[in-house]
Amino acid sequence: MEIELWWLLVLPLMFIVGWISANWDRKQQKDFKDEASNDFEQIILFLSDEKITEASKLLLNAAKKDPNSYLLQLSLGVLYRKSGLIDRAIEVHASLLLVKDLSKKYKDWVVFELAKDYLEAGLYDRAYLSLELLEKTRFVEDSLQLRLSLAQRLRNWPQAIILAEKLEKKNKISLQHIKIHFLCELAEKGDQSAKAKVKELSFDHPRVRALDSESHEPNFSKNSFVCNVCDAKFSDHFWRCHVCNTWDSAN
Ligand SMILES: [Zn+2]
Repeated sequence: MEIELWWLLVLPLMFIVGWISANWDRKQQKDFKDEASNDFEQIILFLSDEKITEASKLLLNAAKKDPNSYLLQLSLGVLYRKSGLIDRAIEVHASLLLVKDLSKKYKDWVVFELAKDYLEAGLYDRAYLSLELLEKTRFVEDSLQLRLSLAQRLRNWPQAIILAEKLEKKNKISLQHIKIHFLCELAEKGDQSAKAKVKELSFDHPRVRALDSESHEPNFSKNSFVCNVCDAKFSDHFWRCHVCNTWDSAN
């Protein structure tokens, strides 16, 4: 009889404790969600006003409150990079790579963002190595584009030709218009094989026709040229705009 009475007291008490606990958790979660929602609304507002520094401060707070949210940390790194804080961007993205249970999907994304950080920091070797890791991922096309752009920046024309051909194969498009220039760059330095190849590819292009002249430049009657993409003005003819890097944009 004593045991039955004990249960009569304990069971309702357990129910009440359970109910309070569940409601407390729900309240805590609701408060947390409300707070996070306010933070994100504020972040979006800052971003739409291009107040990157303010947005990154709020995002840092949000990431601290929820350290397992890798997407927040990834975004924080991107904001740091956009606000010119490249060292911090590299630090945030590199530390994410150390997370043991990070999924392959996120890991590839982090490597891609890290590669962009390295490009921004001028650490081209590291950027290139990171981009190479993305060959068999969903970032393959973007990473090929960045590698192609880097090869052109570093004037590594043989590499640029290989990457352009990979992109052609991947996207089933023709990049002949830029491959002509890569081959001409090599031909102008005396590469006879490149010269033969580019003549085969497009004999009619003015740069290819000029390969046999001493200056490697067609004769122009004017001394002022405008880029038809970015409107930059130059006193000398150019094959690639020095401002927007577009090939064949001189008018
Ligand atoms: Zn331009």
